[in-house]
Amino acid sequence: MSRDFSHVKRVVIKVGTNLLTNSKGIDTNRIDQVVDSIVALREKNLQVLLVTSGAIGLGAKELGHANAVKQIALRQACASIGQPILMYHYRSAFKRHNVVCSQILLTRSEMNDRRTFVNLKNSVSTLLDLGVVPIFNENDTVSTAEIGTAFGDNDRMSALVASKIDAELLIILTDIEGLYTGDPKKDKHATLISELDKLDDSVMAFAGKAGSTFSTGGMKTKLLAAKIARQGGCTSVIASGFEPDVIIRILAGEPVGTCILPEKRLSQRARWILNSTPMGTIRVDTGAEKALRSHKSLLPSGIIAVEGAFNAGDVVMINDFAKAVPYYNSTQIIELEGCQSNEIPVRLGKGKADVIFRPEDIVFIDHAE
Ligand code: GLU
Repeated sequence: MSRDFSHVKRVVIKVGTNLLTNSKGIDTNRIDQVVDSIVALREKNLQVLLVTSGAIGLGAKELGHANAVKQIALRQACASIGQPILMYHYRSAFKRHNVVCSQILLTRSEMNDRRTFVNLKNSVSTLLDLGVVPIFNENDTVSTAEIGTAFGDNDRMSALVASKIDAELLIILTDIEGLYTGDPKKDKHATLISELDKLDDSVMAFAGKAGSTFSTGGMKTKLLAAKIARQGGCTSVIASGFEPDVIIRILAGEPVGTCILPEKRLSQRARWILNSTPMGTIRVDTGAEKALRSHKSLLPSGIIAVEGAFNAGDVVMINDFAKAVPYYNSTQIIELEGCQSNEIPVRLGKGKADVIFRPEDIVFIDHAE
């Protein structure tokens, strides 16, 4: 039953660098195969969004670099060189079918900011309504982990895209058949896990041991991505892109790869809070924590410290157990720290919210899975 994907309307497919490139550069046959499958899904009225890596690898090859590029500035330059090469090949492959594709380059900032995220969502809906296949990659030329704007890897980005645009299925194609219980190259008893309905530490430990891929992420980031998708009510399948017709076979319900089942779906807003980068921390006392856990609002009297500079409406950490969106900025909250609610208008002026945030503005992140 769990492999019945007949309800799926929107699917995100992620392809990694290792699949698309060979020693000479781009593997156009592989691009053609992926595109042929996407076109076949569209003909069945599915909406398909593609997340593709490969820009940095192709840029490096264009410059004649034989080895992996590690230096950040050079990786960013390579991404800028390789991205148009990648898109040129996708466009040519889609053109054979008279299908239009588009490019969307993202950083974490666009996803974290509620306004740019809503814009992005609207643009994606328009593109899908027009029958276009949007092709995503991280905007590596401008986003770096150092300034906190990077997704880190495209596995994570694909899961955030899937979760935020309400896809029912995320397919992560890589160069290994799925999650094994051990390293299949070393352990002859290692078996492929076909289905998972939890991603706890014991499952995550398999990723460390498994014969992981050569791409940025490896199996661990794929499981972390599946975790994000899971919280968004989206099923993930991690499978080998070298398997013939793998995309079509997954959608047909064949037991290929590892399928990770979704959790109960959180609301769109709760998922946005959960997946946004916190801009600061509000430290609260145990009484406030207890109240928050019993669905009460946060009152100023429970606040013991404020860390970082954030705006009203930014996502912040609450100690280390939750993420929330306060009505006030960090300076205002420092002003209110420890005071009674009826002092809010005295300190900040009339007409302001009488709490720091309400139960619908908080998502707990410490529930053990
Ligand atoms: N965005 C990178 C690229 O296109 C790849 C990141 C990844 O492999 O996860 O080269």
